[in-house]
Amino acid sequence: MKPDKLGRKNKSFPPIVINCDSCGADLELHWNEQSCNRAFCNRECHLLLKTNKSVRKPELRYAILRLMRDHPLEQWNVKELARMLDQSYTRWRVNAAVVAQLLRTMKTSVQRIEPCVYELKPEAKTGPLMRFVVRTGA
Ligand SMILES: [Zn+2]
Repeated sequence: MKPDKLGRKNKSFPPIVINCDSCGADLELHWNEQSCNRAFCNRECHLLLKTNKSVRKPELRYAILRLMRDHPLEQWNVKELARMLDQSYTRWRVNAAVVAQLLRTMKTSVQRIEPCVYELKPEAKTGPLMRFVVRTGA
C-alpha cells in the first residue's frame, strides 16, 4: 500500500462522509483511495458539470468555489486564487483576468470586499456548490 499525499499508511482511518456537490447525496470517502479528491457521487453528477451549457466555463467556476470553500483562507486576492488554480489544474492555464471576469458574474456565491478581493458568501459554504455554478432550469 502506498502512503497517501500526507504520508499516511494507516488504513484504519474511518471513511468520512461528504455530500455530493451536485445532488447533495451522501458520499463516503475512504482514506488512501484515489477517490480522495472526489466531490461527486457518480458519473452523471460529474458529467453535468462538464456538459452544462448554461454558463461559460462551468468547471472553472466550480473549481474557484471549491477552492474558496475547502481552503482555510477567508478572503481571496484574485491573483492568488488564479495562481493556486493554475497550479492545481494541469489541463488549464488559469490567469487572473479570467478568474476576475468569472467572479464578477458569480454574485450569488461570492462577495467583493475590495477591488480584486473576494470572499465566499455564507450560503455557499454548505450544501452542493453546483447550485451556484449552473443556472437552474437550464
Ligand atoms: Zn450526485
